[in-house]
Amino acid sequence: MLSRRALLAAGLCFPGVVHATEPARADVTFQAFIEALRPDAIARGVTPETFDRAFRGLVAPDAAVLTRTRRQSEFVRPVWDYLVGAVSSGRIARGRARGAALASTLRAIEGRYGVPGPVTLAIWGVESDFGASAGDVPTIRALATLAAAGHRGTLFRDELLAALTILQRGDVTPERMSGSWAGAMGQVQFLPSTYLAHAVDFDDDGHRDIWISAPDSLASIAAYLKDLGWDQALSWGYEVRLPGGFDLARDTGDLAHFTEQGVRRVDGRPLPSRGRASLFLPGGLGAPAFLITDNFEVIRGYNTSDSYALAVGHLADRLGGGPPLAASWPKTAGLGGPGLRQLQIGLAAAGFYDGPTDGRAGPKLREAVRRYQIGAGLPADGYATAALLARLTSRPASRP
Ligand code: CA
Repeated sequence: MLSRRALLAAGLCFPGVVHATEPARADVTFQAFIEALRPDAIARGVTPETFDRAFRGLVAPDAAVLTRTRRQSEFVRPVWDYLVGAVSSGRIARGRARGAALASTLRAIEGRYGVPGPVTLAIWGVESDFGASAGDVPTIRALATLAAAGHRGTLFRDELLAALTILQRGDVTPERMSGSWAGAMGQVQFLPSTYLAHAVDFDDDGHRDIWISAPDSLASIAAYLKDLGWDQALSWGYEVRLPGGFDLARDTGDLAHFTEQGVRRVDGRPLPSRGRASLFLPGGLGAPAFLITDNFEVIRGYNTSDSYALAVGHLADRLGGGPPLAASWPKTAGLGGPGLRQLQIGLAAAGFYDGPTDGRAGPKLREAVRRYQIGAGLPADGYATAALLARLTSRPASRP
């Protein structure tokens, strides 16, 4: 059998559909990148047949992939904007119906992995609208494009090799292996390395199928959360009301301590007596306030955005019959990506922040904002606003 390279040289390889609006033109650099991958794939046990079949017809990178992966809505939109889409009334209704239809499966999954059914269901809902929109971009094409571009170092090259390993195992065909523009696969949006480490075959047909099988998809989500350290004794968090004069500087502690300080769940039910939590004010003081547990960080292990974790937690509550958020969001947005980047630079220069300059909100930036606010005598809600950035850039901050 002729190799793909030989076929290309002979002009016998037909360009595949690379992008709907542009004709595929063979890209020599891209093809050289693919060929250079071959020995590493073979060393991992991928046969030449699997390798050639995986890349059949793929002769150029997909420009649309590179464009699309620059936008990640959970990082660039205000948290409440993201929540409106991620926890819509339509999604809650669909999720409750799917949850009812899959009740016995969800119970069995909860029994095996210790992750509550509504949480598993909520992640399935946010990732793929309960399996309805898993993405139809061929995974090999997406990963090869990102890998050849050197997007995020060698991460996508490693993921491409992992994807070839999955094909070699026969769990899915190249035609069915699809997902997002960023190479996240199937109904659970696992990158290939996550799939290899955490996906499970829950319906016992011998294949870990996160593309078609709802039981495999749900169980893979629960297994991943368990592996990330889900504590089955705790919720993800609670919406709370703070008592007047609450000292925001004391934002982490035992749940019992928060109860002693007069912090109350908005639904009137008691906070658990054991476990630790942190105060999370994603819209600043006056907007919805949350006590989040270590399980919030577990959800962030699935997708590192605060907005994502909050959407999953709140959707899980709603799927379990819980009410909408009690407090209202602010009228004006906090800082977006470019502003957050400036804030990171400013806080780093002032000695408050040593994380990445990536324009993304997260626990590290929140903590830096809080320490700056405490030093400046401001309410320490950790909320990054334009006013805070203006203050930081207009006057020198004292180091913590
Ligand atoms: Ca299966």
